[in-house]
Amino acid sequence: MPRLAFLGLGDIGTPMAARLARTCELTVWNRTATKAATFAAEHDVAAAKTVADAVRGAEIVASCLPTSPDVEGLLDQALPALQKGAVWVDFTSGDPAGSRRIAARLATVGVSYLDAPVSGGVAGAEAGTLTIMVGGDERALERVRGVLDAVGQKIVLCGPIGSGDAVKAVNNALLAVHLWSAAEGLAALKSAGVSPTVALDVINASSGRSNASMNLIPQRVVSRKFPRTFRLALLDKDVGIAAQFIRDQKTPAPLLQLTAEMMRIAHNLLGAEADHAEMAKVVEQWSGQEIS
Ligand code: NDP
Repeated sequence: MPRLAFLGLGDIGTPMAARLARTCELTVWNRTATKAATFAAEHDVAAAKTVADAVRGAEIVASCLPTSPDVEGLLDQALPALQKGAVWVDFTSGDPAGSRRIAARLATVGVSYLDAPVSGGVAGAEAGTLTIMVGGDERALERVRGVLDAVGQKIVLCGPIGSGDAVKAVNNALLAVHLWSAAEGLAALKSAGVSPTVALDVINASSGRSNASMNLIPQRVVSRKFPRTFRLALLDKDVGIAAQFIRDQKTPAPLLQLTAEMMRIAHNLLGAEADHAEMAKVVEQWSGQEIS
């Protein structure tokens, strides 16, 4: 079994690490050490107290932190302990420039880097059905593909380092557009006397349907359950990365730039711990209509 160090046991890192515990000789590390200790006891794997102890001897290092700067913040500790020839797979939804900086520093100690953000949510992580969008060297990907199979169903090499981050950021900008626009439309329909459940029944058999209309809004908003699986703060970060990426390309994208502003507003209003689907509450407040 490959020796793998997993850094970052958050909402999605935890179920991913749980699947990797079945196929790898796993050591976990988390900033809040008690989470790593609890995970290690539950899954019969090792917990390291320091990043250096976690990565020492690992053939593969996996990280899943909020941002690329968070991953960069671990490198001073990790670099002296890393094994030459190892591959660092970063599941963080990072930013392309950050990933390129990380890759350059890892290259100085002979370690390959892949940006490998995921989509599919906590449910996809638990089921091992994530989509993994990879940026980096094809040979490095082929060395870890067997391990990634434990968490991913669709694994796609998108291009050079940073490409996975760019695709992920644009994907999540689309998610934000779909969620926000569906909430606006449903609030207007409710105001006109059409039940959101009836409207969704029609839309989901019609051309305006999306993951937001088919899954997120019925399961989280209409149900009033709002489970926290993916923080709005992280979606705000992702759409911000997309907006910066698009500005760098100098391609006009007024809708996506506006969406980044909307996510910032929703994040500021709802706070750091709100789930992404709770953005519908802002639309509800503005319209005076509950989407239920
Ligand atoms: P969480 O906020 O739930 O967890 C973040 C993890 O990172 C925690 O383990 C936290 O440690 C750790 N952490 C935070 N800041 C630092 C830091 N500066 N240094 C070291 N460790 C740190 O995030 P998620 O698990 O939800 O998301 C992780 C990544 O995956 C993000 O980039 C996100 O956008 C992406 N993602 C998430 C999805 C989801 O459904 N949740 C879906 C797809 C992608 P501590 O326990 O100490 O707080």
